[in-house]
Amino acid sequence: MDNIAEQKCPACGAPLVFKPESGLLECEFCGSAFTIEHIEDSLKEEAAAGQQPAEAGNEEFDWGSFKDQLEDEQMEIAVYNCNSCGAEIMAEPTTAAMRCPYCDNNIVLNERIKGGLKPNGVIPFKIDPKSLPDAIKRFYGNKPLLPRDFFSANKLGNVQGVYVPFWMYNCRVDGSMEMRGTTVRHYTQGQYNCTETSYYQLDREGGMAFERIPVDGSEKMPDDLMDSIEPFDYSELVPFDHRYLAGYVADRFDYDPDDCLPRATNRVMNSADEVFRSTAAEFGDVQVTHRNLNLHDTAVKYVMLPVYLFTCKYGGKDYRYAVNGQTGKVVGDLPISKGKTLAWFFGTFAAVAAVVATFLYLL
Ligand SMILES: [Zn+2]
Ligand SMILES: [Zn+2]
Repeated sequence: MDNIAEQKCPACGAPLVFKPESGLLECEFCGSAFTIEHIEDSLKEEAAAGQQPAEAGNEEFDWGSFKDQLEDEQMEIAVYNCNSCGAEIMAEPTTAAMRCPYCDNNIVLNERIKGGLKPNGVIPFKIDPKSLPDAIKRFYGNKPLLPRDFFSANKLGNVQGVYVPFWMYNCRVDGSMEMRGTTVRHYTQGQYNCTETSYYQLDREGGMAFERIPVDGSEKMPDDLMDSIEPFDYSELVPFDHRYLAGYVADRFDYDPDDCLPRATNRVMNSADEVFRSTAAEFGDVQVTHRNLNLHDTAVKYVMLPVYLFTCKYGGKDYRYAVNGQTGKVVGDLPISKGKTLAWFFGTFAAVAAVVATFLYLL
């Protein structure tokens, strides 16, 4: 079947999985391991077999030329047949890679990652899923308000490795900013203590380039979770290859680069603002009186970034967590124990009261 690619062990035919700890495709059944290059690329093969124009394999995401095409595209739930067990698999409109729920075979849905939909790059998983419980324990460890039974009650059973679609924007910001600021000098003259305040008009002009501003392009990923899971180390970005997806879930984007641009713009403008203001650091009481910053030369790349996702149920509520699959950084909400909040509040309050009491006593 040409709309499905799967990575199978050449030795025994069992599914291969990309292992972050070794960076190899490994067979969980017979233990064989292969480099990405060693395993034949089923997508390329297909191109060679003449089922599609040969250059289609080299094509990748280009927003300029892809925009119009996307408008006509229908995103629908699709039905595929697993090549291994023959089961019918329903795939969400955005699913690009998954495991067969019946036989665990790894499945890449070709039509969602090739041609104009082929990402420009991918950061492969680097964190071994076995190390996740420790990372999460450390994350819980320094949270004083966490209910005591939360970690024991939490079952880390269903961790999912997901390649999340991200847009990476490059752009420039040019413009000017006018500020007012002051400097203050104190001195003594004879019997007088003098304060001299100087007022400055600060005119700044300049430009700066921004590279690789990431914004996730997936509707179902909570934005705050994806924003706080950064940073990723982009020096480890490699050209996209669907074999890295073997054994993981991958989603294609459903928010396009234009939808996500305001989030990137917001970040860039805030940073530019900070850079301009930082040039007035030696002045006090700085007020911005005029601001004219313009964004231009925006370019965007489509990349897949590795994220582990899991949910903890506690007290009838779902708590969602994400772990950066490259750095191991853990982010998420934690339940707060009411009893502990009170204890913490009274503890702090008591300490403040004690300080005040000591202070009064010293007076
Ligand atoms: Zn094998
Ligand atoms: Zn199957």
